[in-house]
Amino acid sequence: MSERPRWFQTTAIDYPNSRPHIGTAFEKLGADVQARYRRMEGYDVFFLMGNDENTVKVSKRAAELGKPVQEYCDEMARQFREVWDALDISYTEFVQTSEPRHHACAQAFIQKVHDAGYIRKSSYEGWYCEGCEAFKTEKELVAGKCPLHENLTAVRRSEPCYFFELSKFQDWLLAFYEANPDFIRPESRRNEIITLIKNEGLQDVNITRRGEDWGVRVPFDPEFTVYVWFDALLTYITGIGYGADDAEFRKWWPADVHFIGKDITRFHCALWPAMLHAAGLTPPKQVFGHGFVYKKNEETGALERLSKTLGNVVDPMDIVTKFSCDAFRYYFLRECPFPSDGEFGWARFAEVFNSDLANNLGNLYSRLVTLVSKNFAGTLAGTAGRSAPAIEGYDPVAAVATVRGHVEACRYHQALETIWRQVLDPANKFADSRAPWKLVKTDMPAAGEVLFGMLEPLRAACILLKPFLPRSAQTIYASFNFAKPWDEVTYQDAASPAKFADDLKVLAALDAGKVKPLFPRIG
Ligand SMILES: [Zn+2]
Repeated sequence: MSERPRWFQTTAIDYPNSRPHIGTAFEKLGADVQARYRRMEGYDVFFLMGNDENTVKVSKRAAELGKPVQEYCDEMARQFREVWDALDISYTEFVQTSEPRHHACAQAFIQKVHDAGYIRKSSYEGWYCEGCEAFKTEKELVAGKCPLHENLTAVRRSEPCYFFELSKFQDWLLAFYEANPDFIRPESRRNEIITLIKNEGLQDVNITRRGEDWGVRVPFDPEFTVYVWFDALLTYITGIGYGADDAEFRKWWPADVHFIGKDITRFHCALWPAMLHAAGLTPPKQVFGHGFVYKKNEETGALERLSKTLGNVVDPMDIVTKFSCDAFRYYFLRECPFPSDGEFGWARFAEVFNSDLANNLGNLYSRLVTLVSKNFAGTLAGTAGRSAPAIEGYDPVAAVATVRGHVEACRYHQALETIWRQVLDPANKFADSRAPWKLVKTDMPAAGEVLFGMLEPLRAACILLKPFLPRSAQTIYASFNFAKPWDEVTYQDAASPAKFADDLKVLAALDAGKVKPLFPRIG
């Protein structure tokens, strides 16, 4: 028996000092499409997410609210998971860094690196950004401020600490990037990191804090806690049992991909592989640095970075409750290129929703279901055992190959564009030119053939859309008597025409002569 290939992917973990916004959600969404696609393609998938709780920001926020930190973290984790569930993010496991299993994992790991001789005690003095919770070099500051936190002035700090000797890994890292050209994706980020390391070199990293109550205790010197960055990266191995369940850990490690924001590429592409190498572990196969979502200011048209301090944060739940989970997913996956940047604005949201979902996909579906139900009593007689007629401009084999290539490279916006331009548009054009709603009055067999023809690309589209719009795709598929169960469809099924054991039937119920619209028009 051949074993299923395994796929282990993670997202960045989030600071729970405020609720997730659409930018945070964008990352989880991109990761979710990949996880769902891999499952369809037969992979055994582990999709890890979590919250980054061992940070001063979080304990400060809890103190402001007068809550015990643990209680605050648990409540926020519940709120985060509620949002991820509402967006249909299909994660396998969620790690809170305050959990005992994570403390145990982080301590086992840091002890291992210490034993290997890569941690030394010293003291550190420098400029510290409280927003990033990180020391900054002079070069990184602009007029005394971190460019990511222009509302905060960097403060001078000095403290005894332990250093991780990152500088010792510089040559090893450059050789590793050379030998693993796909390690950093997209390509532009890879070039950034290599240039940065070649020009500036790598300095040893302070990995501890002294005198904090909250956080993971350093096992060889309990006066110290582990600095949030060193500890956060370790959730990726906590979730799969490092230090607790060796067989499980060996099954999943190394990760196939870490999805992260482009602002934290350095931590993941330099610090993380060096940490792993120091502990005798293999680095992950890939780090994917996705772009950011900016908010379009509806009055000025200017693009703004989403930030709590600017007060322009959009809660994903506002969109999901007003429209739907799939409407949310479609907008961000189609309009915001995952590898680069995108923007959100309510006017554009309505425009995209109406043109692509309501008028295109939704309309094709409702026309087909309604015409077959009303004019053929729900059954296209004579379709059993044969393939649908071909449609001009529709080449399923080519379309599926293109979509697959885009999905695997996380170019989700191009995958969706291909589904619309190469699958749905030809079906709608075919419908418009043959007008089966007129044919039913003059030539029923011809009308039946046109409807049968329209169905084939609709079926292919909903299979290709399964990782993107899981609910709507399933609703479409379940509206017909396709032989293959929904749980078993693969992308290959979209490339080959369906054969029907029985005559094609519409299973969706009509309400007052109409099918329930998948995407009711906005406005
Ligand atoms: Zn900062």
